Amino acid sequence: MENVEIRLVNNSKGRGLFAKKSFKSGDVIFEETPFVCCQFSWNSEYKYKACDYCLKPLETAQENARRLTGQPNLELPFPDCCTTDKSKIVLCFNCNVEYCSEECKMNSWNDYHKMLCVGLNTTHPLINLNNAWKQIHYPPEESTIMILPRILAMIEQSENREQVLLKLNQFCNKSVNEELELAHKFLGDKFIGSINLLYDLLKNVISQKEIDTIEGFHKLLAILGTNGQGVGTSSISEWVNKCSELPLSDFEREKLNNFIDKLYVDMENNVGCFLNNEGVALYSLQSAANHSCIPNAEPSFLHNNSKLSLVALKDIQDGEEICISYLDECNLGRSRHSRHKQLAENYLFICNCEKCLQEINEADVTSEESDEDMSD
Ligand SMILES: [Zn+2]
Ligand SMILES: [Zn+2]
Ligand SMILES: [Zn+2]
Repeated sequence: MENVEIRLVNNSKGRGLFAKKSFKSGDVIFEETPFVCCQFSWNSEYKYKACDYCLKPLETAQENARRLTGQPNLELPFPDCCTTDKSKIVLCFNCNVEYCSEECKMNSWNDYHKMLCVGLNTTHPLINLNNAWKQIHYPPEESTIMILPRILAMIEQSENREQVLLKLNQFCNKSVNEELELAHKFLGDKFIGSINLLYDLLKNVISQKEIDTIEGFHKLLAILGTNGQGVGTSSISEWVNKCSELPLSDFEREKLNNFIDKLYVDMENNVGCFLNNEGVALYSLQSAANHSCIPNAEPSFLHNNSKLSLVALKDIQDGEEICISYLDECNLGRSRHSRHKQLAENYLFICNCEKCLQEINEADVTSEESDEDMSD
């Protein structure tokens, strides 16, 4: 990767990601495919159709719009702006999971699916694990334990086990005690009693040296909790993007915009804000970027699959550290005290970014206390 490098930072942050050339605001700094990725369990249960390997949408924009609005006869104008190519969809001959392409099917089989294919067995240990997880985590989902069997199968299936372990260990930089703390935070206080159940269910799926002890399981949960990046894809968003490039008259443009506005209102009335195929992924380079409350870059999914594009939010100089926000937009807008509370609980560090240093004398007030309780 010639655009960026990972190196040590001159403070307590450990390593960080640095620009090796200058970038303009809006530039794609780099793109990377994930180490591993997985759709959320409820998202899939609710029939959000995505490639089992790369999360690319498998519905046409019109099918997607019909399902999300609950209007089976809805017709989208400009159908050519839909990018879903259903002719390339292939199934696993054994268990019928769907892929966007022959390439994804092959990659999935070679990475982990050979060990994890459940066939037509409805009481397979993998299905038991998924069901237990769904009982513990209702939507909105932020992660899924189902990514862990994939990681373990990748280690097991690989001809170069050491290389997979090396990549996995790049995501882990916490002590055993910190991993335990993060594993608890990951499951939440209410469900921490289920940790042994999940551990046993996971061991039924795949018995493996990495999870011989419960500490190994804590480590995997901690990796997922601190490095997991949300991925969202949607055939309607793609269609809207392509529509915006059409050469239309002002009159036609206004008509189309009104149609799209109404479409989003209808979808929201029917399914709330659950519009996208959603999942979680681990990225080697992106996860090396430290947090800042005034980030200069953000992850984006420009290819409508799990390939991540890191996009510059400001001009970045050669040699400058590249930082992203670990907090969502809503939490990022809160007071220094609230931000620090979130970061300390979920990532175990104290932020010393420029913004936090400027606000250091701010009183320790928690912004919107009631909202905050809800977000826990
Ligand atoms: Zn795919
Ligand atoms: Zn299969
Ligand atoms: Zn900060």
